[in-house]
Amino acid sequence: MDSSATTPTTVQAPQGRVLFITLGCAKNEVDTDRMRSLLERAGFEETDEADDADVALINTCSFLASATSESIETTLELAQEATDAQTLKLPIIMCGCVPSRYGADLPDQLPEVAAFVRAEDEDSIVSTVCKILDKPQPKTANVLDASALRTVEGTSAYVKISEGCDRYCAFCAIPYIRGHYHSRPEGEIVGEVKSLLEGGVREIVLIGQDTGIWGSDFDDPKKTLAWLVRQVAEVVRPYHGWVRVLYLQPEGITDELISTIRDTPEVLPYIDIPIQHCCATVLHRMGRKGSAEEFKRLFARVRREIPGMVLRTTALTGFPGETDEEGEEMLDFLQEEEFDYTSVFPYSREEGTKAYDMPNQVPEEVKQERAQRLIDLAEQMGFSATASHIGETADVIIDGIEQTDKGPELIGHTWFQAPDSDGAVHIESGEATVGDIVKVKLTDSFAYEMVGELI
Ligand code: SF4
Repeated sequence: MDSSATTPTTVQAPQGRVLFITLGCAKNEVDTDRMRSLLERAGFEETDEADDADVALINTCSFLASATSESIETTLELAQEATDAQTLKLPIIMCGCVPSRYGADLPDQLPEVAAFVRAEDEDSIVSTVCKILDKPQPKTANVLDASALRTVEGTSAYVKISEGCDRYCAFCAIPYIRGHYHSRPEGEIVGEVKSLLEGGVREIVLIGQDTGIWGSDFDDPKKTLAWLVRQVAEVVRPYHGWVRVLYLQPEGITDELISTIRDTPEVLPYIDIPIQHCCATVLHRMGRKGSAEEFKRLFARVRREIPGMVLRTTALTGFPGETDEEGEEMLDFLQEEEFDYTSVFPYSREEGTKAYDMPNQVPEEVKQERAQRLIDLAEQMGFSATASHIGETADVIIDGIEQTDKGPELIGHTWFQAPDSDGAVHIESGEATVGDIVKVKLTDSFAYEMVGELI
């Protein structure tokens, strides 16, 4: 556990050791960081070993049926591991999306789990852990806002600017798991950003289910995402860091946001717009807005205003009723738009969503075949977009040092590579420290990775 400059002065005597396991997306990483900070403040320590732990906390994902299965398998494997090793029984706390989605049914189905904590109740984690371990609850356990003391290891940190979603896309379980959309107040966000920068973070990645509508639930028209991004950029400026915004629905790309990205040096010219599909008919059935023509106009506007803008998107194929022609249209659309990065998902039938009972479900093998063609195209576009940067000189954040056959190698990422999602820059010689931002001449690429030399 990082005991950076943000460690509070009220730390209690060690109360016990906690094993954290996080599954799923970046938003879950943020939630785990938050619980880790609350537990650290209450005097608990982190351990990486089940044998050494007094309690295990598994932060689960339930976005897709496969993610739910993985969450349950991980829980059962850990319970079995503790039993096999004949260690003292390791209490397991299951947190996050699985308890939020299946709460009432879980205690009977998973007797191996000592407690279930829904995503919305995670600020009560200290009470839950103290109760299970029969420890007195420290006075600091009631601190509800962990944002100002959040710590992470590493050079980039995700910061959640909102929770929940009100769009109810027909294929998606998120609104049922994470509840209604609400924006986090800017004071909380800025406090968390400051805390992370003081702890050594160099890149702030703003995330949420739907970042573009941040502020729409406040009674103040000036509070838009673009306004928030400018506030965050001001905090980041003295640290010479970067700001990146992910998960923007197409309607969230306003003129104000485009000019903020263009005119604010700390904000990276990188946009992630998950369109899911390009056909108006499919989008309509999905409960989403847009059409190929509207999206083409949007991307042309973005590229005209910010030349060289890097675009990432998400494509969902095999949605109920998708015809071969609509599958082909999606392929043609992606090819024409030449996205830098594209994530592809075959439709997954999720219980409780509107699409679950829709007619004309697409057979599994057809979904997989359409998805594979999109993946092949996405790789071809992504590899060539990466190679197009050969010869450029770019700022690179040094994220770590790896041992290779040729010796130690510096690993970092640059403005067109979102941490965890895209590739990295490999620098074979030279010296730098983790967290440095260095100038690198990009000399070669392989797949999504780049090779460079320190200047
Ligand atoms: S915008 Fe749609 S796909 Fe995204 S989280 Fe909300 S409901 Fe799910």
